[in-house]
This record gives sequence, structure tokens and C-alpha cells, in this order.
Amino acid sequence: MNENLTSITRNEPPQNSSFEQLGLIEPIARAVHDEGYTQPTPIQTAAIPHVLEGRDLLGLAQTGTGKTAAFALPILQRLAKSGRRPQGDRSIGVLVLTPTRELASQIGDSFGAYGKHLGFRHTVIFGGVGQNAQEKALRQGIDILVATPGRLLDLVTQRIVHLSRIEIFVLDEADRMLDMGFVHDVRRVLALLPKKKQSLFFSATMPPAAQALADDLLHDPATVAVNPVSSTVELITQFVYFVEKNDKRSLLTDILSDHKIKRALVFSRTKHGADRVVRYLDHAGIKCDAIHGNKSQNNRERALARFKAGESRVLVATDIAARGIDIDDITHVVNFDLPNVPETYVHRIGRTARAGASGVALSFCDAEERGFLRDIERLIGRKIDVIKEHAFHSTERERAPVPQQQQRGPRQQQQQRGRQQPQRAGGQQQRSRQPAREQPQGGDAAEQPRKRATGPGGGRAFSSSRGRRNRPR
Ligand code: AMP
Repeated sequence: MNENLTSITRNEPPQNSSFEQLGLIEPIARAVHDEGYTQPTPIQTAAIPHVLEGRDLLGLAQTGTGKTAAFALPILQRLAKSGRRPQGDRSIGVLVLTPTRELASQIGDSFGAYGKHLGFRHTVIFGGVGQNAQEKALRQGIDILVATPGRLLDLVTQRIVHLSRIEIFVLDEADRMLDMGFVHDVRRVLALLPKKKQSLFFSATMPPAAQALADDLLHDPATVAVNPVSSTVELITQFVYFVEKNDKRSLLTDILSDHKIKRALVFSRTKHGADRVVRYLDHAGIKCDAIHGNKSQNNRERALARFKAGESRVLVATDIAARGIDIDDITHVVNFDLPNVPETYVHRIGRTARAGASGVALSFCDAEERGFLRDIERLIGRKIDVIKEHAFHSTERERAPVPQQQQRGPRQQQQQRGRQQPQRAGGQQQRSRQPAREQPQGGDAAEQPRKRATGPGGGRAFSSSRGRRNRPR
């Protein structure tokens, strides 16, 4: 893929340093400024001109880079310029397909915010909730539909949604979509779309299955990419505590009793582990909530709202539940358990450094987790400073030998051998990972995400526009 990337912008200020200079019309630029964005992120600078031109796009970027605006802003502009009248024709003109309901809601909110001066209608549909409200919104006529694949196909089968007049199609988080087993649903949706359309394809990695999907969907695409997550952690101050497993909860309570920690996201590998941490913190009088796959949608939304409003200072989450959650101003990420996939660590701690902010990441490492720590340090290319001045410091970790093949059980190792290594955005080879499937209900399986956010503005952007259409930037 990288041999096709011709024009490269590193972490320098983008040449097009304002939204207006990217060619966005006044009502859109104004809405973006209302959101507090002062300049486009690298993926926005790289992608917006291509999308405005009407080109297909392959975007190698993950959540947290500002990729939603990278597609939503030029799409709104194309709608505005297409002669589509906000009060007129209500056939669905834009479809955004995304894997999770959280992402769908956030993308819907973004269209609402960026398009607020234009008057187009959008709606969001996803499964796990009743369909009546969604159906009602659809029947009123909408311009932009954001959907997860299952519910979309249900509504198509019921002839409530018609996709034959889609002009612009976005496939968001394609690799995650495939991970979650949606490949057949996605292909069914593609088959329902008109041949003539503009297609935008976003993925954090390009495993062969995602590449095949992109090849089928895209015609002469421009390719833009932001660099891999491992290079965006410099903004974050990182520390590790060596602690025995049984002391982790006491250590957490101790740390969180410091009120300088304004807003902390605590990661637990398992759902029951997250619940146990919440119970313990509750006992200690620290207000907190948990979000994970066993919680209902309402419950998760309430917990998130409390956290966002500052009513609870601590949110305990599993990796999957934390995916796609868009919360700025997280001051601290605590890894109560170290993840066994090193990229997960980078994705987790990236939650503190949103929108260019800095943050602190604290990791608890027990004797059994030292191999994970070593993998993480290898990925990020440096040692993480150890905090020893606390009541629970364990020297056991320093003495304990690294168990052989510790980080992956036999099943994972087998899966890993049988799987091809996906290629990372920016060309870095991706390391092994556990396959991630959404486990919305039941079980205490470790939940491992595929990708997680890094702060927008972080990361260099690569852009290619293959051949004659290559634009200087
Ligand atoms: P996304 O990658 O689309 O999930 O965006 C991640 C976060 O970055 C969201 O909170 C956006 O509101 C924010 N964001 C997007 N573009 C910009 C920008 N140009 N400047 C500052 N924040 C942004």
C-alpha cells in the first residue's frame, strides 16, 4: 500500500492551515469553529480536498484522528452544492456504515453539529433498541443515514429504507467491521447500492479481507493515511506501578483519593473485573461507574453522561465498551490490568491525549504481567518509569522470571500462526492480537479492542492521489 503514497506531510503544520483554505463553504467552516476547532487535523487536511473533488477515498486512520470530520465536512458541502434542497427531495443521499451503535451515534452527532447551518436531515439507526423511533425518523425523509449493518438490512428488508439513490457511501472502521463478523452484511449492503456513487473507505489497518473489500468498492481512489498509533504517545506521561494482584484495588483507591485526578478512565480486562473494581471504589466512597458489554445501552449511556458531566470522576471500562466513546478531558488513564496486546495499551492511553491535550497514564503490573509490559515497552520504544514510592510496591515482579510464552495462551498462539499479519496505517507491520468480537451480553471473556483513539492533530498524514490527479499540498 505504501508504495502508492506519493505526497507526504509529516508533523509539520499543514499547508492548508484553515478550514476555509481547504475550500469549505462558510456555513460549514462556521459550524466547525463553533465546535472549537481552530485548524484541521492531518487526516482532514489530506482527505477533504479529494472528497470535495468527488473522488473515492481510502483513508487509513483510526478514531481519534478527526476522521469523522474528514468525511462529514466535505460530504455536507457536496450535498449543499448538489442542488439538493434541504426542504425538498428526501431520498437518502448519503449512507455511513459503521460497526457499533456508539460510533453510529457519535457520527450522527457530528453531522448534526457540522451541518447545523445547512438544514439537511440525518438520522442514526442501530440494533439493540426498538425500531419505532428510527422508523418514524426515516419516514419523515432524511438526507444522511448513519447505520450499523444488521439494523440497516432489517429495515431494507421491511422496505422502510431504500438505498437505490445513495450518492455518497462511507464504510467506516472497515477492519473492525470484519473483526466483528459483519463481512456478509457489509457485502449485502454494497450489493444494494447504485453502481454510480462516491465511496469513502476508512480503516485503521488493511488486512487482506479489508483490502479485498476496498478493491471491490473503490474506483481510482486517493489514499490518505495517518501514522501508526505507537508514535503518538509522546504527549502522555506514563508510569508503571509494580504491585501484587491482590493489592491492586487498594493501590487504585489510594491513587484516586488524590483529587488532582479530575477525570480517570480505568481499564479492566474483564467485565466482572470492572464490576469488582466499581464495588470496591464505591465502598471507599469514590463515585464511579462501569461500562461493559453486560450493561444495557441505557445503563451505559447514563454512566457516560454522568462521567461527562463530572458527576462521577471515575469510569471503569473494558476495552470493547470503551471503543468509540468520545470523551475529551480525560486527565488520567489507569490500566488496572495490563493488556496482552501491546497496541491496546497505546489505544487506551490515547484516551487522555485527545484534541492535542496531554495526559497521564498509570499502569499496574503484577508479577504475571511483566511479559505484557515488556511487549508494550518494545512497541512504544522506551522504558516506562516505575513509581516505587507507594505502600504496595512489590519487588516480586523484579525477581520473577518472565514465564515463557506468557502473553498468549495456546489458542491465541495457534490463531496467530494461522492468521496473516494485517498491515498498519503508515506501513508498520501489526503485531499479533487476539481476534476481537463484540460480546454484548454474557461471559467474562477478556474484551480486547482492535483499535483505539489517539488525539487528533497527532500523527503525520500521508496522501496519495495516484497519477494525473495528484495535487500539490
Ligand atoms: P474522530 O477521530 O472523528 O472520532 O474525532 C476525535 C475527536 O477529535 C472528536 O472529539 C472531535 O470532536 C475532535 N476533533 C475533530 N476534528 C478536530 C479539529 N480539527 N480540532 C480539534 N478537535 C477535533
